[in-house]
Amino acid sequence: MSEERIADGVWLLRGDLRKGMNIYFLEDADGVVQFDAGSRSMVKAARRAAQRLGGLKRVVLGHAHADHRGTAPYLDAPVHCHPEEVADAESDASIVPYMNISELPVAPVRWIYPLLLRRWDGGAVEIDDTVEDGDKVAGFRVFHFPGHAPGLIGLWRESDRLAIVSDVVYLIDSTRLRPLPDGEASVPHPAWAWDHAKAKESVRRLAALEPATVCAGHAEPLRGENLRSTLERAAEKY
Ligand SMILES: [Zn+2]
Repeated sequence: MSEERIADGVWLLRGDLRKGMNIYFLEDADGVVQFDAGSRSMVKAARRAAQRLGGLKRVVLGHAHADHRGTAPYLDAPVHCHPEEVADAESDASIVPYMNISELPVAPVRWIYPLLLRRWDGGAVEIDDTVEDGDKVAGFRVFHFPGHAPGLIGLWRESDRLAIVSDVVYLIDSTRLRPLPDGEASVPHPAWAWDHAKAKESVRRLAALEPATVCAGHAEPLRGENLRSTLERAAEKY
C-alpha cells in the first residue's frame, strides 16, 4: 500500500476495508500536511508516506468521525480541526451522539456498523488548534460545510478547481457498504447526519464552486466535465 500522486502537490493514501478510507497529503513548506486521518489500521502506512514526502507538519481533520480520526493520536504531530468538531474529536466515543444507525435500511449493515466504527477508531484525539472557514491550509482555502458533522470542513484550490472535501459527499453507498456506480455521488445518508438539511445545503455550496475534481473521504477522486450538475443531483439523493 502506498500513496498515489493525484494532483500538483497532492497525494492520496487509500487503506482499510476495500481500500475505502482516504488520507490526503498536501505539500507545504518543509514537509506535508495530512488532511483526514483514516482508520487506526493505517497508522504505519500514513507514517511511512509522510516520511517519504518530507515529514509530517500537522494533521487537519475533515471531521471527527471514527474513520476520519483513526491515525491522528499516533502520528506525533499537532492535530487541528474546526471549532465545532473539537468536542467529538476529544471524546472517547467511537459513535458520535447524533448518529442514528437504526435508520439504515439494510439490517446486516445496521448490525455491523457499530463493530466497524469501533475497529476503525483510534480513540480520543487531543486537538492543538482550530481552523475555520477562510483559513489557509497548504495553499488551499478552508470551507466550512456543516451537516454530516457540525464542524465538517473541505479544502478548495481555485487554480485547478480541486476540492478535497472529506464526507461532504459520498462516492460510496454507505447503506449497502459498496461503491456507487462510476461518476455518481450522494449526500451522506441521514442516519449519519448532525443536520441533514444543512448537509444538502453544503453539497449545493460545493456544486456552486464548479469543481473539476472532487476528492472525498472514501473512494477514488471524481473528475468530470460537469460535476456541478452531478453534485446538484447528489444533494437530492436522500
Ligand atoms: Zn463521516
